[in-house]
Amino acid sequence: MIILGYESSCDETGVALVCTERGLLSHALHSQVKMHQEYGGVVPELASRDHIQRVLPLTAETLAAAGMQLADVDAVAYTAGPGLAGALLVGASVAQSIAWSLGRPAIPVHHLEGHLLSPLLANPTPAFPFVALLVSGGHTQLMRVDGVGRYALLGETLDDAAGEAFDKSAKLMGLGYPGGPALSKLAEQGDPTVYDLPRPMLHSGDLDFSFSGLKTAVLTRMKSFDVNGGAAFETAKANLAAATEAAIVDVLAAKSLKAMKQTGLKRLVVAGGVGANRHLRQHLETEMARRGGEVFFPPLSLCTDNGAMIAFAAAQRVNAGLVDLSTSSHAFTVRPRWGLHDI
Ligand code: ATP
Ligand code: MG
Ligand code: FE
Repeated sequence: MIILGYESSCDETGVALVCTERGLLSHALHSQVKMHQEYGGVVPELASRDHIQRVLPLTAETLAAAGMQLADVDAVAYTAGPGLAGALLVGASVAQSIAWSLGRPAIPVHHLEGHLLSPLLANPTPAFPFVALLVSGGHTQLMRVDGVGRYALLGETLDDAAGEAFDKSAKLMGLGYPGGPALSKLAEQGDPTVYDLPRPMLHSGDLDFSFSGLKTAVLTRMKSFDVNGGAAFETAKANLAAATEAAIVDVLAAKSLKAMKQTGLKRLVVAGGVGANRHLRQHLETEMARRGGEVFFPPLSLCTDNGAMIAFAAAQRVNAGLVDLSTSSHAFTVRPRWGLHDI
């Protein structure tokens, strides 16, 4: 079965073709990062308009790359939430319209399930059950995953997400948007031991996180720097970036390892944009190997939002028998706020 999938929940327009037997066939992606950069963050109205402009050319590109035509498509999947309402509506209405015109079913997909199952697109593939650390721009959760559609929340952030902590700290350091990759790059030139930043909730005894205090600590440090200090200022900033990254990675890794211990599982899966972070990857690889376990990541290019993970999640749900393909109704809604426990 061939599934055409759409992602448009935030600032990436993604389209992909996935075969339920053969896996990912092709995908195309447009990031709006440059467009939003001058505003220091995502402008929802601009995001929606840009999705509208990109979605059909990307569809043509995806079909051509797989040597297919719309008529070859058996079902159309799309991100139904969570995300920006206007942005979600673009992908949802395009997907539903195409499905309707072809007389094929449409499959709404939960964006976080897309992230969560994206490590299964890598090689080697983790077997169930596993613990998943979902670290994106809007979410930080630890989950026990026993199979497709069988997710139990073990812990989550009480305030900011890990990606948000990267982004907000980067903004305070004048690094622009999105801050994660920029902060991580600057951190390479810094010494993480010069500034001692808090590791919120490291010893809270549970699997929850809190990152909002970290940005306050970063702000306080930034204010203590002499902005006219030239090279000294640049060095201080690089050291602060390294300390920030170390603090976030330490907490994420410690809680993940605690979740492994608590569940007794041996496989850890990391998903979401922060999963692209090199330090987090290295740290978890070392620590999991030391414990006789394994850690899995999505392919680097599929950590942040993309259409492949949405079409792929739909295919996994179809294969697991969780999708009603008989439906002929193409009425739809999007869910800007939507918990993964509620799918
Ligand atoms: P959500 O999926 O929760 O709705 P989102 O889709 O915006 O949020 P993703 O696209 O999964 O989130 O990830 C984006 C986040 O990942 C941003 O916060 C970004 O700064 C962060 N990020 C990307 N690359 C890196 C990196 N190398 N190091 C740290 N953070 C990174
Ligand atoms: Mg994005
Ligand atoms: Fe995302």
